[in-house]
Amino acid sequence: MAQNCDICGAEVGFLNKFRCQDGVICKKCYEIVSNHFATTITQMTLGELKRNYVKNVQPLDMGEGGFQATRKIGSFLLLDEKTQKVCILNNQKLTGRNTRPVIFPYSALKSFQLISQPQFSVEQLSALAADKTADTTIQGLSIRLYLTGNRTEEITIIPSSVRVSSFAFRRGLQIAKEILGCLADI
Ligand SMILES: [Zn+2]
Repeated sequence: MAQNCDICGAEVGFLNKFRCQDGVICKKCYEIVSNHFATTITQMTLGELKRNYVKNVQPLDMGEGGFQATRKIGSFLLLDEKTQKVCILNNQKLTGRNTRPVIFPYSALKSFQLISQPQFSVEQLSALAADKTADTTIQGLSIRLYLTGNRTEEITIIPSSVRVSSFAFRRGLQIAKEILGCLADI
């Protein structure tokens, strides 16, 4: 059965799972809490590990000029229009994953795409949302950002399956459109 890291929420498996007294963590978090593998954690509690994590983790790289949000879309995205940077927020409530915010300059963004399961265009999704008789279910909605250096980032908007006739879907689609509009301005 798949397990998740009790610190960051990443999936852990046979090769990257490390046990402490009352939980499991991934290799990345293990490296951070153990000060680059300098200590073992089997006798430590998750509470202790989390305190170590906060103590040891590198501060976020804000880039030159820092980061001062001038535009915000829900708990998903911040822009610093002055220093021209994007911040993707950690939306833990939604994704259940405790990932850290990601900051990058406008210039790193190459393209972006709305991802749905099954894949529909924004227009098709809007038509579905407007159709009271539509009986389609979407397995999640997100926006994928393609960055320089072959990096991708994903903004999860709807993490699980929803009917297109639901309020949750209409609201999620509205937020997705706002984010797409915001990214298009960059
Ligand atoms: Zn982890």
